Amino acid sequence: MIIRITDIPPEGRTFEFELEPGPMNDRVNAGRQASASKTTAAPEYLFLDQPKAKVLLTVQGSSVHFQGTATARFRTPCSRCAEDLDLPLDVTVNLVLKPRVGGARPDDVEDLGYGYYEDQEVDCGAIIEEHLILALPYVATCDAPTVEQCSRAQQALGSLQRTDEAKSGDERFAILRNLRLDGDPNLN
Ligand SMILES: [Zn+2]
Repeated sequence: MIIRITDIPPEGRTFEFELEPGPMNDRVNAGRQASASKTTAAPEYLFLDQPKAKVLLTVQGSSVHFQGTATARFRTPCSRCAEDLDLPLDVTVNLVLKPRVGGARPDDVEDLGYGYYEDQEVDCGAIIEEHLILALPYVATCDAPTVEQCSRAQQALGSLQRTDEAKSGDERFAILRNLRLDGDPNLN
């Protein structure tokens, strides 16, 4: 979805569009597959359906204000038990785009909140795609509440188990205290 600056009216213009998940998945998993020893390595992330985006572009002098939201769904294995998870992903993008001039280097785009447009065009799809990919979580875990239901990586759960033991221990102590307190009056 590439928009020419000259096509944006003074009141701004809203666009709704969908992204193709295929190229996004190729991009997300390119580095991973290159480093994997087997070419059959499963993708760590898989965008499902077509991510949907809504973008409002307004022109302020030579700058373009990019306000967008996007929703997507992706599949990734639970980091504890490796079960496939389908999770929602929502992003909000708020950028001021400036015309790229000779001195500007690509690194400058990393500056949060600012970006560039070139040749009087804004590639809305590329901007949304970038932000969706950046919003993917490093670690995703399923809702399995117990070690048995989500047990692949016991080490990862160690801290959770300890927390549970501590809690149950506290409860047992509390019960013992209550019994003793209850018992004292009966002995008297
Ligand atoms: Zn799990």
